[in-house]
Amino acid sequence: KVEKLKKLKDLPATTPDGKKVMLAANIGTPKDVKSALANGAEGVGLFRTEFLYMDRTTLPTEEEQFEAYKEVVEKMEGKPVTIRTLDIGGDKELPYLDMPKEMNPFLGYRAIRLCLDRTDIFKTQLRAILRASAYGNIHIMYPMISSIEDVRKANIVLNEVKAELDKEGIKYDKNIKVGIMVEIPSAAVTADILAKEVDFFSIGTNDLTQYTLAVDRMNEHVKDYYQPFNPAILRLIKFVIDAAHKEGKFAAMCGEMAGDPLATVILLGLGLDEFSMSASSIPTVKNIIRNVEYERAKEIAERVLNIAEAEKIQKMMEDIIKDIE
Ligand code: PEP
Ligand code: MG
Repeated sequence: KVEKLKKLKDLPATTPDGKKVMLAANIGTPKDVKSALANGAEGVGLFRTEFLYMDRTTLPTEEEQFEAYKEVVEKMEGKPVTIRTLDIGGDKELPYLDMPKEMNPFLGYRAIRLCLDRTDIFKTQLRAILRASAYGNIHIMYPMISSIEDVRKANIVLNEVKAELDKEGIKYDKNIKVGIMVEIPSAAVTADILAKEVDFFSIGTNDLTQYTLAVDRMNEHVKDYYQPFNPAILRLIKFVIDAAHKEGKFAAMCGEMAGDPLATVILLGLGLDEFSMSASSIPTVKNIIRNVEYERAKEIAERVLNIAEAEKIQKMMEDIIKDIE
């Protein structure tokens, strides 16, 4: 089976009736590009940039960041690379930043909130990303967006940085796509509004599940409450994908669910355009997509949306993919 999956590397993720989706990799450092390409990733759907900031005593310089981003896009040879701006806070602290002690760090000062407060940090990162965009195909993605104001404020900073680069005569991709993570319920529920202001969505099911079901994604004691297949999550996903498509934008997913074989047929049927996952999951997901008719996936997704229990949905999906060799 492993051999068979390896042969899929250069084949497209297309259903037998011709629906093509994009399978991309989540990466955490430039080193991960090798495995992404080896597994047939058509792009990087999530480049987590936290590694640049962690395990050190000072902020990374613009130059250091630029080198890391450039290395990734160059190695991806023109394939799209979605760079997520800093998502620190929550569980990930930076000792040198003197972050506030918080009662609820996951509901607190993190990610885009920190960046909009510390625009010095944000601007340095955006400069590095924009400069690297001259060397390949980069998309910018903001994490933890909760409202349209977040998007607008972030874009104001982005435009300031672009103007600076213009003034300095530094090249960057003037048409760079800017999207957001949809991982907070308020963003999912207002996806129709947000879709007008962004180029794409990427659904972060890890946090979306945590926040929608009010269950700590890391807490062993409540792990049974953490249900990505809960109807609440599936309905939100459907709404977000439909909202993107109504505005002619694309809908990606970069949470763990995108690489879960039990979710593949449902997400395909809901119309997800891009699945981004850990590289090693790509062959399995691709194999499912290449063996399920899109028309059938749509019917299955519709049926699933009428099932009340997460467990029942998972059982049904196990049965459906059982026959795929
Ligand atoms: C998510 O929340 O689904 C996600 C992809 O982001 P992270 O896991 O880095 O929070
Ligand atoms: Mg997240």
